[in-house]
Amino acid sequence: MSVSAIAPPGPPLWLLAEVTYRCPLHCVFCYNPLDFAKTERADELSTREWLRVLREARALGAVQCGFSGGEPLMRDDLEELIAEAHRLGYYTNLLTSGVGLTKERAAALKAAGLDHVQLSFQDSTRELNDFLSHTKTFQLKQEVGETIKSLGWPMVMNVVIHRLNIDHIDRIIAMADALGAEYLELANSQYYSWAHLNRDHLLPTSEQIRRAEAITDEWRAKVADRMKLFFVAPDYHEGKPKKCMNGWGNVFLTITPDGTALPCHTAKMLPGLAFPNVREHDVRHIWFDSEGFNRYRGTGWMKGACVTCPDKEKDLGGCRCQAFLLAGDPAATDPVCPKSERHGVVQAAVAAADAGEVPVRPLVFRDPKASRTLIG
Ligand code: SF4
Ligand code: SF4
Repeated sequence: MSVSAIAPPGPPLWLLAEVTYRCPLHCVFCYNPLDFAKTERADELSTREWLRVLREARALGAVQCGFSGGEPLMRDDLEELIAEAHRLGYYTNLLTSGVGLTKERAAALKAAGLDHVQLSFQDSTRELNDFLSHTKTFQLKQEVGETIKSLGWPMVMNVVIHRLNIDHIDRIIAMADALGAEYLELANSQYYSWAHLNRDHLLPTSEQIRRAEAITDEWRAKVADRMKLFFVAPDYHEGKPKKCMNGWGNVFLTITPDGTALPCHTAKMLPGLAFPNVREHDVRHIWFDSEGFNRYRGTGWMKGACVTCPDKEKDLGGCRCQAFLLAGDPAATDPVCPKSERHGVVQAAVAAADAGEVPVRPLVFRDPKASRTLIG
């Protein structure tokens, strides 16, 4: 067993508070679980419970706190949670679609000590932004961008990139520049949850990726003095497993709306693994002692090609959710890796995209009705 398989973990550095799955948008690539509708509003952690989680995670050493969802602004107590996170000394971050961020609410969040707002767009055109989210939110997002600037927050924009919007990359960057963004994350979709369901519609062609990267590089040189551009390449095309979440139970502690604690926001799909809940255990126990957080820490759990691979400390075998979705085994080598026995599945998906094959299933929008239909 290697050293990293037995070394005790450090504290969580990032607390990701998924305060609700409620969201007015219906994005086709949403990373919320397919069965998100099982978590009703009444199941969500109360304000008191969240305040306790914030305190316990901070006492353990967490320094960054991201408020996410769903749309975190759907919670009326967000100001209170952020004020407490600020008081505790976290660097606080709001990940939002912009819906609900009125001027009044933004001012209240600023006063509560919110450090950073990350605003997501679906596209640079009203038509596609509104189609992909199944809402009329493009204009509102523009206004929210102006509000963020006017309150002196750094302007951080995020756009999930996929086949349907990747050819707009030039316009997307131009829009971010016009809005005064200091950071733009062009994150190629990861194919879990709703994006996995819709993968045959969303996976870009290899040529689209090449073009988008070249255009991003040109812009990077042009706007170097005012905007940082991050192009997160898709692992399907790169053939390189990612060190998912910077290592299982290594940096990130995600708490879902009902209090389930996860090493990554999609890990609940993995079979044969019980994840602890903050209603039953404190954060220290969850992080250090629970089966859910220890199962895939380090490298000792690996099998197949990963066991003897010289890169195993670098990528920790890739993503467990992807291994489960594509190989049917969460402990398998991530199939995006060319050494995986199941790599052919990934190659076939990319080949189908490159050949322009028309998907058989219609696009599914993320909404409670679709969620309930899918879980039966
Ligand atoms: S991806 Fe879209 S639907 Fe999902 S939580 Fe974010 S804004 Fe809402
Ligand atoms: S075999 Fe395993 S450790 Fe090696 S590169 Fe592939 S996923 Fe990473």
